[in-house]
Amino acid sequence: MKRLVLLGATGSIGTQTVDIVLQHPDQFSICALSAGYNIAKLKTILAEIHAGTVCVAKESDAVSLREEYPDIHFVSGDEGQSYLASECDYDVLVNALVGFVGFLPTLKAIESGHDVALANKETLVCGGALIKRALEKHGRVLYPIDSEHSAIFQCLQGNRKDQLKRLIITASGGSFRNRSREELKDVTVAEALAHPNWSMGAKITIDSATMMNKGFEVTEAHWLFDVDYDHIDVIMHPESVVHSMVEYVDHSVIAQLGAPDMRLPIQYALTWPDRLYYQLDKPLDLASLQALHFSDPDFERFPLLALAYEAGRKGGNLGAVMNAANEAANQAFRDGKIPFLMIEEIVIEAVHTCTFRELETVQDLIDADTWGREFAMAKIRSCQS
Ligand code: MG
Repeated sequence: MKRLVLLGATGSIGTQTVDIVLQHPDQFSICALSAGYNIAKLKTILAEIHAGTVCVAKESDAVSLREEYPDIHFVSGDEGQSYLASECDYDVLVNALVGFVGFLPTLKAIESGHDVALANKETLVCGGALIKRALEKHGRVLYPIDSEHSAIFQCLQGNRKDQLKRLIITASGGSFRNRSREELKDVTVAEALAHPNWSMGAKITIDSATMMNKGFEVTEAHWLFDVDYDHIDVIMHPESVVHSMVEYVDHSVIAQLGAPDMRLPIQYALTWPDRLYYQLDKPLDLASLQALHFSDPDFERFPLLALAYEAGRKGGNLGAVMNAANEAANQAFRDGKIPFLMIEEIVIEAVHTCTFRELETVQDLIDADTWGREFAMAKIRSCQS
């Protein structure tokens, strides 16, 4: 029985993790979980999952929940999530949070001697160097939940890392893959949120449309698998059936294929090196697909993908600045405050304006995040006035 702490339980990855736990009650239990503001959803989860400790975003929600669920220990806020990560008695932290807020709990989990199943890619985009240092110091492991990284992880099984030639990350291209830059000027939030293949949360769906998400995944792969940026390629693959590939020195390419269903990579992160049966409505049926397509990415059409390579290669605080500006700009677009193309403009300008600094401490990281967020907010305000 694996005991989990699940952060971000009410989000897309969180609810699918709950599905897996409910399908395998003999394998997994959730001893603690966190939710944000969606208390109604939290209550539906608590009807099925017996968690001893629960963290919510607002202390006022915690106060009323303590009355309703006297057997559960409620905590709140960012400190509450770090408390879950470092103080609970568990085996693996599942980090399904969205954004920079996922960094500290990941670090706390590692420092308190736990492995982490990581869906929160921003942790590595912002502070990959700090996480790597902590993993080495405490002898802990990250298991990838992101589908591309789960695919690479699977393709590496039984092979030797020193015989690897390159990683090939597939990209669907998101909601606007068939539109030119000219056609992106007036796109709406609803159009951007309609991803052709994957059902995901709002923030990551917008990140897919700008391909910031794919850029983040390049950085994520760099830190997870210790491969330099010259040996990580992105290939467009609109069907999202090949989840990623690994090429070895003999030019043999190993790919992992599957239905676009996040429950598969989530489950593998929790069961590795074993596999477990999973009840899937629509398993992959290649014959019905007939064809799979691949092409090179257009870095001019998707400048944030190019930016992520640039920021990743330079390192230091640039990943954290890029992520912070993107979080603010992505949210501003969803709030109707800025047009779609301005997301790119803000993120590129933030990275090119900030002063480069090495990341030595968590405070360095927080400073970079604050700078990126403030830079973006100023741009967003000037756009509105
Ligand atoms: Mg992904």
